[in-house]
Amino acid sequence: MGVKRVPEFEHSLLSLSNKILADFFVEPLYKPLPIPWPRARAVVLWTGDGLGRDVLQKVLEGDTLAFWKKRIQSSNGGVLPTDSVFPTTTASALATLHFAVPPSVHGALGYTLWDPELLTTINVLSAQDLLGKVLPSTIYKHRKTIYDRSAANHVKSWVISPASHSQSAFSQWVYHGALYCGYNSPSQIPGLVLSARKEEARFIVVYWPGFDRVGHLEGKDSLAAKKNLKMLDQMLQASEEKIGKDAGVRFVLTSDHGLIDLYREQYTIPGIFSRPFVDERRALYTDWNWIAMRRRLTRAGWHEALCVPVSQLWEEGYFGRVPADSRVLFRTLQSVIFPGDHQQLIMPGAEAPVMAAGHGGLTDQERQIFVSWWSISTQ
Ligand SMILES: [Zn+2]
Repeated sequence: MGVKRVPEFEHSLLSLSNKILADFFVEPLYKPLPIPWPRARAVVLWTGDGLGRDVLQKVLEGDTLAFWKKRIQSSNGGVLPTDSVFPTTTASALATLHFAVPPSVHGALGYTLWDPELLTTINVLSAQDLLGKVLPSTIYKHRKTIYDRSAANHVKSWVISPASHSQSAFSQWVYHGALYCGYNSPSQIPGLVLSARKEEARFIVVYWPGFDRVGHLEGKDSLAAKKNLKMLDQMLQASEEKIGKDAGVRFVLTSDHGLIDLYREQYTIPGIFSRPFVDERRALYTDWNWIAMRRRLTRAGWHEALCVPVSQLWEEGYFGRVPADSRVLFRTLQSVIFPGDHQQLIMPGAEAPVMAAGHGGLTDQERQIFVSWWSISTQ
């Protein structure tokens, strides 16, 4: 396994959302990303799920994202390497982006979490336990989103995201304060961006989940993944054409985390799931003592996996600073297992064990993302 690296929060999703707040004259609670872009009247922020920096670098050599490439290479465009957060999951990254605080503060410390009050594992995106029952977890307690905070400064926000996500506990939690506009097909996005501008929304957020989905199933270099990127490029172009010469609008394209190819052997550890655990294929949190767990890994012949006490990750600042609320600490249980590069843990349940790519772990491919931007005003 490669070197462990704490996310560089000052160049991450955390500093990006604080930069956007600062641009709207909302006082940032964390250091904003140092980008020297000119002032914009409105921002259209696109989040391409799973679009890591390695994919981007390959794209820059070809023409899969031809429109995007032309725009970021223009005189008023740019691209900056940034980090996701830890864990490199959609839940922790998107919560960081939409609350502008680190995982240690918003508390969505993974895709699934141990809830120390309910004494069960819940899926943070669906608010269900592992049997599918919806649970009223305090993880979703109300805290101000970047939309709530911008609205206090008279900035109107729209979120353009799949219609099927609109009722989820996660959506209601992270998009509070914005008008949720669901789309049933990505081709509706440009029209919705135009509607948002006509209604004088100054902060428009577009969520693009497709790349992550096809990346998991078929691989990030698959034909399906390339087709998805081409569609994203067309939607960026069509959205810009729809709004025309709407001077002072900045487009920003970022991601939540990258993906790592999974092609090496997968492991399961007998008995491990009989105790509380938090399900991450690329990072499994359990209440086992880490020394006992390391012995089990050795007995299972899994020498590439890394097992450390979670307290070590907290102390090293992986999730941000150690929180005042100890219940947040209990959500990550006691020890964590990181499968080796290109490996994953086989989880029980209905999900197919074989996937082409994954995330949630520690590798560069999972952590490294980017921020890109251009403004419409002077083209
Ligand atoms: Zn994601």
